[in-house]
Amino acid sequence: MSDLTSLIQDLVIANRILAKEEVVDAYGHVSIRHPDNPKHFLIARSLAPDLVGPEDIVELGLDGQPVGGDSPQLYLERFIHAAIFEARPDVMAVVHAHAEDTLPFSIATATKLRPVIHAGSFIGKEVPVWDIADSFGDTNLLVTNIEQGRDLAKCLGAHSVALMRGHGFASAARSLIEVVRLSVYLPRNARALMRAKQLGGEIKYLSQGEIDARNRGYRPYSPETWRTWEYWANKAGCGHLLTRPDDGHPHPPKG
Ligand SMILES: [Zn+2]
Repeated sequence: MSDLTSLIQDLVIANRILAKEEVVDAYGHVSIRHPDNPKHFLIARSLAPDLVGPEDIVELGLDGQPVGGDSPQLYLERFIHAAIFEARPDVMAVVHAHAEDTLPFSIATATKLRPVIHAGSFIGKEVPVWDIADSFGDTNLLVTNIEQGRDLAKCLGAHSVALMRGHGFASAARSLIEVVRLSVYLPRNARALMRAKQLGGEIKYLSQGEIDARNRGYRPYSPETWRTWEYWANKAGCGHLLTRPDDGHPHPPKG
């Protein structure tokens, strides 16, 4: 199996995991930078992530436009991905989703979304909030052109996640596994923080030292990370698509 074929299968798995873990529903998407051309990226055509198969993956340029001739219907908000890949050469994978538990933190100014649980450490100490109205006034809140995408990417800066006011979030990472993991734990971290606020009193956030310690110990294809990916893929019904980069052998779903 070629690297590209295996990467496309990974992207399909990522779509299914994000759907199963309720990060995305009919809307939301995940992309990867093209392994052979850093100015292109791969993303599904306009389709609910749970329904995405390898044949639905399309190749787009950093302007958000399809590479080559005819193209199927594309996601309206593909510019989020294009602009982040353009602005961040270190980023290899991007997720955009509307996960409900993240939304309150995009509209309330009293409490910032920050890591409070160990698995939430990868969101980073600060999560900026992008408000499309600041630069574009009254819109339908969707990122439908590259200028809006670039404005969002600017707000994201060197962070891992930016919340989008009244809309959702965009997350970015150096690998597909990392961006999926980050995007699954972001709403869970948000939920824990909201519940802790209901209990009252002081909130204990992860310190910068704790965040750094977790980052130091993290490797995208370590057995611990792979365990999660394999578990999620099987749970999402696509364990048969798993290939492991270090041995190239598919890992069939557990009976
Ligand atoms: Zn959206």
